[in-house]
Amino acid sequence: MRKLYVFDTTLRDGEQSLGITLNIQEKLEISHQLVKLGVDIIEAGFPASSPGDFEAVRQIAREVKGVTICGLTRAVPGDIDICWEAIKEAEQPRIHTGLALSPIHRQYKLGVSVEQGIEMAVGAVKHAKKYVSDVEFYSEDAFRTEPEVLARVLEAVIEAGATVVNIPDTVGYATPWEYGDLISWIMQNVKNIGRVIVSVHCHNDLGMATANSLAGIKAGASQVEGTINGIGERAGNTALEEVIMAIYTQPARFGVNTTINYKEIARTSRLVAKITGVPVPAHKAIVGDNAFSHASGIHQDGVLKERSTYEIIHPETVGIPQNRIILTARSGRHALRHRLEELGFHLNSEELNKIYEKFLRLADQKQEVFDEDLYALMGDKNGANAYKSRISLKSFSVSTAGPAKAMATVELEADERTAIDAACGNGPVDAIFKAIDRILQCPVTLEDYSLKSVSRGKDAMGDATVKVRTEDGRLFVGRGLSTDVIEASAKAYLNALTKVKSQLTARG
Ligand SMILES: [Zn+2]
Repeated sequence: MRKLYVFDTTLRDGEQSLGITLNIQEKLEISHQLVKLGVDIIEAGFPASSPGDFEAVRQIAREVKGVTICGLTRAVPGDIDICWEAIKEAEQPRIHTGLALSPIHRQYKLGVSVEQGIEMAVGAVKHAKKYVSDVEFYSEDAFRTEPEVLARVLEAVIEAGATVVNIPDTVGYATPWEYGDLISWIMQNVKNIGRVIVSVHCHNDLGMATANSLAGIKAGASQVEGTINGIGERAGNTALEEVIMAIYTQPARFGVNTTINYKEIARTSRLVAKITGVPVPAHKAIVGDNAFSHASGIHQDGVLKERSTYEIIHPETVGIPQNRIILTARSGRHALRHRLEELGFHLNSEELNKIYEKFLRLADQKQEVFDEDLYALMGDKNGANAYKSRISLKSFSVSTAGPAKAMATVELEADERTAIDAACGNGPVDAIFKAIDRILQCPVTLEDYSLKSVSRGKDAMGDATVKVRTEDGRLFVGRGLSTDVIEASAKAYLNALTKVKSQLTARG
């Protein structure tokens, strides 16, 4: 069995597509979770693309250990220099450089001949090799590149010192058999291919990214690139959790094994959904809410008699605990700690005390506390630590008198100062947002607002997500939780504005 290297690009290919500006704390939180998941490589960003991306990659390289940290570049010396500056403190740094050599890109995007393209590719790899031994080369749009041209460029960059070659289906155009054939052809026809790792990088435009990646792996690729939950450009990237679990169910089918901690899959998925504000569809394979629920009577009956009748993966394997214990206000610290540990949260006694207080307040409001509520409580804790300029909602009141007439009063607290204001609006949420706007004077437009319940029951906690756009076009996500949906909404809006404000001060 070969080892399959898992290359996560949630923070690069995933993030760049969302139009959302994640802050450094959020990127670090995702990176630390990816290490727990056991990925081999984290592509942390594209350092030359912006000062913000550069800084995020640098912090990740500095802080996140036990994994290869990779930065993307174009085949341009200046990009590579900047990338090296960003990743040089990593334990295991990697530069990922390349260009497109498909006819359509040669003609319209780069305006170069095949010879010129190969020269640029070799030049980029050699330049990167001056800094670091681990250099990955991507041949963008490889699937639409003439195989002979692809073979020539691959041979040349391997000769120049590339250690990994990436064969992307950039536009998501391949079918599994065609993509598998391409990888086989490369394995057989590129003379020096045995010296490097071949990597698959697929997009999901036709819903085949997972299948194409698996076909490439079966044909000889030893690295898979993708994102958590499959987020990414257009219809998304390969969903890493799907590839990982397809291999888990029958490694012999593919001839590879991973070193992933399967139990961290559900938590990683949840964290990425929370931070990016991109929800996971209920029917999504492996990580959707319904991925393991059996609704039809015949299936339920079968699973009760013998799980394997309708279950190919146990939910516990990917970190979804099944023996649901419901906690109440009478549950003690010990029971709470026990359940949190089962969910994978290990707290010291000081942290436990803090969470226990929050837990009791919640249990008072809603009789039963479910796992989803506990995840929310823990997320709340992490979220609150992440933002330095903390603005909190001290109190609020809302009154409504018929449709379109609402009035809200809001009291905010920041740095031990409080401010109070009131506004009228088109319903209670609009009124409370307007009152917050009057205090914070932070010009943004509201792009999206959604509210869903975290767990079951009429007293379930509301989970509000708000997306706001700044005047310079950047998008920020805020989340808020409360058993009161108006409060959850106000908290989400404040959370988003806090991020906007901290970015503004960070840029001076
Ligand atoms: Zn891509």
